Amino acid sequence: MIHKTIEQIAHMINIENDVAKWGEQSITGVSIDSRQAAGGRLFVPFAGENTDGHKYVRQAIESGAGAALWQKDVPGAPDDLPVLVVEDTLLALQQLAKSYRDSLDIKVIGITGSNGKTTVKDMTAAVFAQKYRVQKTEGNYNNHIGLPLTMLSLTEETEVAILEMGMSSRGEIELLSKLASPDAAVITNIGESHLQDLGSREAIADAKLEITAGLKEDGTLFYLGDEPLLAEKINEVTTFQLKTFGVGSTNDLYPISVQQLESGSIFKVNQAPGVQFELPVLGQHNVTNALAAIAAAHLFHVPLELAAAGLRKVELTKMRMEWVEGKNGVKMINDAYNASPTSVKAAIALVSDLPSEAKKIVVLGDMLELGLDEELFHYQTGQAINPDKIDYVFTYGALGQFIASGAKGSFGADRVFSFQDKEELTESLHQILQGNELILFKASRGMKLEEVVESLIL
Ligand code: ATP
Ligand code: MG
Repeated sequence: MIHKTIEQIAHMINIENDVAKWGEQSITGVSIDSRQAAGGRLFVPFAGENTDGHKYVRQAIESGAGAALWQKDVPGAPDDLPVLVVEDTLLALQQLAKSYRDSLDIKVIGITGSNGKTTVKDMTAAVFAQKYRVQKTEGNYNNHIGLPLTMLSLTEETEVAILEMGMSSRGEIELLSKLASPDAAVITNIGESHLQDLGSREAIADAKLEITAGLKEDGTLFYLGDEPLLAEKINEVTTFQLKTFGVGSTNDLYPISVQQLESGSIFKVNQAPGVQFELPVLGQHNVTNALAAIAAAHLFHVPLELAAAGLRKVELTKMRMEWVEGKNGVKMINDAYNASPTSVKAAIALVSDLPSEAKKIVVLGDMLELGLDEELFHYQTGQAINPDKIDYVFTYGALGQFIASGAKGSFGADRVFSFQDKEELTESLHQILQGNELILFKASRGMKLEEVVESLIL
């Protein structure tokens, strides 16, 4: 993590007061939580609407923070403490992160996309760790605050940083990309999340393409070649190297002979037909995610045998296609972390194709933030479920019932059940479960569908 004297920090950001008397003191690391600023960290307060972090500056420094920032328009900057007065503490945090990143001799890989960012980040890190000293975004620290904090946690020894870049609106990825100046960037896919705010899939594609804004001029952009919208838009972009990955054989990197097993997938890739990749996580979409990691590894000279060794060990963050054992040996896949039409269809396709004698049940909750056409998206998701491969459809929530309506067309009414109440849903599942079932749970985070999973565990 960053380790600098206050004088050095003062040179990295624009400060408006004189800190010469503390100039020799140093800070180690940065925190936006006053309770975690001990150990000499730089505490960064935000002037929030509810609580103003500046109230905790004194306490933070007295409890061991090395220094704090202070936003100019907040009255009462103490002059007996090492505080650095800045125009805007968030901007200063970002500026500090950028300056620190630029001082490091490090390769940065930035990852964005509608779905699969964290997964690709974890896979890429697992692959690069076979050859380099790697740091990656922890958890989901992927926004205008999380990314700078992640960058400031990089150490001088780190050779490659794998950074997730998320967004909630237009312009955010551009900001993040300019902060991190990636040497390579990955766009995992274009889905429907944020359709509500951005209006169209095309606008979403534009938003993800903002990742090229800070990409090094001689950098490389990896993107899902299977997505026509990306291919179309990217033709307008020229200065960097372009590399595609995806299922289609027109991609630079594509999988050959994919086998889906109950524990994961086995596949080879066109660029190295002799190397077998064994992925301990489920789903075709994760094969695609792995391709992104493999493509990046190839560019940075990680031998693909080593990449395969890294992927064999990959562990994903919780609630992403997580196998859970339920009562009487019922098998459950908890994917209640988030949901959009693309990811729900990917998850259902996965369950549909699993070689298993079990009765297959999907439990699907509302997909939130889809905008005006949300009912239609849910209906179409229901229509897309294959009645020959899935035995029962359960839905939960006000929008979930449109999935049920969509599914009833091909399933008939007696294999589709729709609930507005979690306890009734749980009760009904209890009644039909005999032990030889495989159940997929998927919904937006806000639906807390994992509560149903928990109540079906031993
Ligand atoms: P967030 O925006 O919340 O940070 P994310 O982009 O980091 O999400 P992940 O956490 O990697 O995404 O995956 C979330 C879910 O998205 C997974 O559980 C899976 O259902 C789905 N998913 C992952 N990768 C893909 C993909 N390549 N295509 C479609 N769906 C995917
Ligand atoms: Mg994520």
